[in-house]
Amino acid sequence: MSETCAVRLAGVWKWYRGTVVPAVRDLWLDVRAGELLAILGPSGCGKTTTLRLIAGLERPDTGAIEIGGRVVAGGGRFVPPEERGVGLVFQDYALFPHLTVEENIAFGLRGFARQERARRVQELLALTGLEAFRTRYPHQLSGGQQQRVAIARALAPHPAVLLLDEPFANLDAELRLRMREELRRLLRDVGVTVILVTHDRDEALALADRVAVMLEGTVVQVDTPERVYHEPRTREVARLLGQASFVPARVLGRLGRSDIGSFALEGAEEPTEQVELLLRPRDVVLERHPEGLGVVVDRRFVGAETIYRVLLRCGITVETSQPPSVELAIGERVEVRCNRARVAAFAGDERIGLAALLERLGRTRSADAEAPVAGGADGAAAS
Ligand code: ADP
Ligand code: MG
Repeated sequence: MSETCAVRLAGVWKWYRGTVVPAVRDLWLDVRAGELLAILGPSGCGKTTTLRLIAGLERPDTGAIEIGGRVVAGGGRFVPPEERGVGLVFQDYALFPHLTVEENIAFGLRGFARQERARRVQELLALTGLEAFRTRYPHQLSGGQQQRVAIARALAPHPAVLLLDEPFANLDAELRLRMREELRRLLRDVGVTVILVTHDRDEALALADRVAVMLEGTVVQVDTPERVYHEPRTREVARLLGQASFVPARVLGRLGRSDIGSFALEGAEEPTEQVELLLRPRDVVLERHPEGLGVVVDRRFVGAETIYRVLLRCGITVETSQPPSVELAIGERVEVRCNRARVAAFAGDERIGLAALLERLGRTRSADAEAPVAGGADGAAAS
């Protein structure tokens, strides 16, 4: 469509032979040139299949795929993988065991003149910090080094799009964090469009310009990390992105009341009487107060912070993470406030708008005291 669209999937469906449930269903996705897009979803939701479709290792049953504005699949057309200008790094790296590091990197450059090939291999060895390992074989490398070889090999022919399948899944926790930073630096320098798939939300949130959330074969939301986290389209997306508490609230016209304060409902098209507000662990301020609407029911010290569970008057338990300066005991009564100007408001499973909190820090608790909120609505027991 637009010329800045690096990859476009339009209504793509894919069934594997002999299966009834599609691996990918009605998938629509626009990837902008130069961005790092993370596809985040649980295992089995179709992430690898999506990458294989883009790379040309699978054919869609219906729908179309464009790369750089050119149709590569769909409408009777099928461009083979090697002509798509796409580099793919497999989850297990798939290095050639009998080839050295430099031979692995050179593998994708078979069509190049010898001198040009040598120059490009040298460039990538330098870029990925692998010069000292050029004559080693894959089994003589650490997991992190193998990953760099796989990325160097994929980048060598100057692909317009780099596809990374769970790039950190095979690394231990500490190395994973380091490689994440390294990869980010490397990709920024190269300036290639990247689609990275992962089931690890921290990875997606930390690395991506935008996150595409995938569930059961289809993309349900594409947004910045901040927005998928704080303004998820559905409850399911909310939970996939991290700890979520849903606080019930009663709405009259555009004004709502809840145990975390009163608010103005924005963006909701249909009138509604009952909504639920999404609270993330850091969205909450706790303050000791003899008439507070919350009671501390659990605390868990986890080092840099303390996780408190607070039972609200409405019957919901909110899980929050508090700085070390907050010291509350189980059984203490607390005032629970939200420290964000706006939080997502849900009716049923869908986000219907935003709740702009009217009384933030410093409000008087009594303002809400005579407006008890009905608890026990559907799903209200979720915490
Ligand atoms: P993910 O990468 O998100 O874990 P996949 O794309 O690998 O998911 O798989 C999506 C669905 O397709 C899963 O239900 C999986 O079992 C199925 N699937 C994947 N590959 C094949 C295949 N070659 N044949 C049949 N079913 C497959
Ligand atoms: Mg996979």
